Amino acid sequence: MNLEGRRESSNVEDRRGMSTGTKAGIGGIGGLIIAGLITLLMGGNLGDVLQNAGAMGGMVGDGSTEQREFTQEEQELAAFSRKILAGTEDVWTQIFQENGWGEYKVPTMVLYTGSTSTGCGQGSAQMGPFYCSADQCLYIDLSFFSNMRQQLGADGDFAYAYVIAHEVGHHVEYLTGTLGKAHQQMQRMNDKDANRVSVRLELLADFYAGVWANRDNRMFNSLEQGDLEKAIDCAQKIGDDYLQKKAQGYDIPESFTHGTSAQRMKWLKLGLQTGDVRYGNTFDKSDAEL
Ligand SMILES: [Zn+2]
Repeated sequence: MNLEGRRESSNVEDRRGMSTGTKAGIGGIGGLIIAGLITLLMGGNLGDVLQNAGAMGGMVGDGSTEQREFTQEEQELAAFSRKILAGTEDVWTQIFQENGWGEYKVPTMVLYTGSTSTGCGQGSAQMGPFYCSADQCLYIDLSFFSNMRQQLGADGDFAYAYVIAHEVGHHVEYLTGTLGKAHQQMQRMNDKDANRVSVRLELLADFYAGVWANRDNRMFNSLEQGDLEKAIDCAQKIGDDYLQKKAQGYDIPESFTHGTSAQRMKWLKLGLQTGDVRYGNTFDKSDAEL
């Protein structure tokens, strides 16, 4: 990506180096990246959109803080993330205006290391990046990006941008009411049906990430050769079927919460190609059509 001269968002809370010392184990943009796979083996229900504190238990921590200097790579990643967030602010403000969706209320990005308190309970780096609708924050431990590279071979700045834009996509779902409606439905359902709703939320967030990239490129000429392939490769590697097969040798489709590799690539691409939110109709599709 070419982000030269781009502004950095100020809607960022930097909690890096402040660890509260506890660990939780659910969530993740790819369902089960890293330790999330332990949760899968225990039959846990994974998701990277959290609703309230009840979902994760209380906010506990020993309050210990650890101060240290950040490496140059860490500082660059933080600056990069601020620029991507700024791009999502500009793009979604415009899209909300165009569609008469009201004002785009920007989310806050919380950078942290290890674990941190959130409006949805204790957040942990093991969960991967996640969005909490209770406080409208996206939570990212930047070490996730090196894990993506090391454990999945998913690399490239645009792949990282896709991850951030996906979480912002959940915020858009929240503002438009899609997220609240879906979560309400899920509470009345058995796990299998709730997972089908979750997959639609996740694929819509992938689609919104694609829409953002299309529009960001239109506004700022940000995409470079090879960028699209890297993001699509990343979408492939965080498909539920791909991750489950990698983790345990087989997959269990009814446990999917984020969609298959093919589905994630398809919806990301659709957003990238159209840049038009009207094509984001994952909730109108049958399973076979997704
Ligand atoms: Zn998600």
